[in-house]
Amino acid sequence: MGLVALDGFGLDHEMGIRAMDSGQPNTCEICGMLHAGDADHKHLAYHHKFLASGLRLGYYPEPYEGREERRKRGNRLINESAALNDQVFGALQVVRAFFDRSLDAAIDNEYWSEHPSFEEFAGMIGDDFPAEVLAVIRRRFGCKAGLLDDGNYWKPTADPNR
Ligand SMILES: [Zn+2]
Repeated sequence: MGLVALDGFGLDHEMGIRAMDSGQPNTCEICGMLHAGDADHKHLAYHHKFLASGLRLGYYPEPYEGREERRKRGNRLINESAALNDQVFGALQVVRAFFDRSLDAAIDNEYWSEHPSFEEFAGMIGDDFPAEVLAVIRRRFGCKAGLLDDGNYWKPTADPNR
């Protein structure tokens, strides 16, 4: 039944089969969304947008659970590592998690084609990191406005350059 619905979106059969045969019954293996089964239209609509944007961007944001784990690992590195390089690596994991979350929201709200690249996004990140870590990130990616103050999301309305 799920396949019929997915076919309606013109999606690849194998993608549909894998989505519906995911090992975790209520988490889509492809887009990572928790769903209520084959007839969950909210999931099917998001799933379609996730695939369509990913094909165009050549990139799929990491779903919620993975990116939360990544953010926690990154924060541990920042707080517990003695070496600046390791702290910077940790900070970039945190930025990646914020980037994926922001892109995920952009896909859901259909402005993903305007969303900045990872490099641009990293140049917009705020001052939540230790000063010497932030200095390295800003040397590498620059420093400009663009993210919402609360939560590091990019939105077209928050970016003065668009
Ligand atoms: Zn899905």
